[in-house]
Amino acid sequence: MNPSNPADQPSLPTYDDVSAAAQRIAGIAHRTPVLTSRTADERSGARLFFKAENLQRGGAFKFRGAYNAIARLAPDAKKRGVVAFSSGNHAQAIAYAGQLQNVPTVIIMPKDAPAMKVAATKGYGGEVVLYDRYTEDREEIGRKFSAERGLTLIPPYDHEDVIAGQGTATKELIEEVGPLDMLLVCVGGGGLIAGSALAAHALSPGCRVYGVEPEAGNDAQQSFRSGSIVRIPVPVTIADGAQTTYIGQKTFPVIRALVTDMVTVTDEMLVDTMRFFAERMKIVAEPTGCLAAAAALHGIVPCKGKRVGIIISGGNVDPKAYARFLSGGIT
Ligand SMILES: *Cc1c(COP(=O)(O)O)cnc(C)c1O
Repeated sequence: MNPSNPADQPSLPTYDDVSAAAQRIAGIAHRTPVLTSRTADERSGARLFFKAENLQRGGAFKFRGAYNAIARLAPDAKKRGVVAFSSGNHAQAIAYAGQLQNVPTVIIMPKDAPAMKVAATKGYGGEVVLYDRYTEDREEIGRKFSAERGLTLIPPYDHEDVIAGQGTATKELIEEVGPLDMLLVCVGGGGLIAGSALAAHALSPGCRVYGVEPEAGNDAQQSFRSGSIVRIPVPVTIADGAQTTYIGQKTFPVIRALVTDMVTVTDEMLVDTMRFFAERMKIVAEPTGCLAAAAALHGIVPCKGKRVGIIISGGNVDPKAYARFLSGGIT
């Protein structure tokens, strides 16, 4: 054990946890396809491998971490149930994973979350509690519910079992396509990139991992570069899955140890990428799901001549908003 390596510290997840999570979700989460596109390769000058988590159960990679975290609970905790707070996809994933494992779920969502995400969460059997994210603290509300009803709080990213579950997407990607030179991953609270970096580090040593954030919400980039967690106001961006205002205490050390750099893309680049996915690859990706690809397609990271893995993190976009995006609007 090397204490200077955060992956060796007891409360932080390791690749072994990713591997154990992969066994837990096997046959339950989809092994999503890896897509390629000659047009995308020509445009970027790289060989791009897109891991299509927009086709995951619940429409995003979040199902992986949610299912793994619920599966790890003790039987009595499962009986009492879980509570989660989320701007959408984690909520859906917890409700769905809870339903599949007969675990009751309470989901705390912002009042302005996309209507489709609220409806989907209810559809999966989750009890939805709405809050105002500009004036109320969702973590406080979550803690109140967990204290009152004995529910286990499963946070969207800052949790070992969640991070380990999210890492399984990259494990599958590298197992399928072989070693990568680079891996591009969107960053909200950092659960996906922390798990992805653990998998990439173990399975494709030397693979450089880049985080991609919306330009308006570059808290992870600021944190990465300054060496301590930076908090920002709720950023205004169409990437609603990356509107987190700070990264996690468990994700940050993994990110600092294993990630090469954090970059940003604009909302205009996200809209352009969404259209590229629709027109050229026949793929519906939500704005946040376009972050990583936008960095490659817009030359934000130096990927020429490289084998590059890209996670399309989700596809849950409100149809009306999607229609506006495809016709050129950015709001
Ligand atoms: C949650 C989410 C993200 C951000 O993931 P983190 O683990 O919080 O960094 C990115 N894209 C989509 C589609 C998401 O649902």
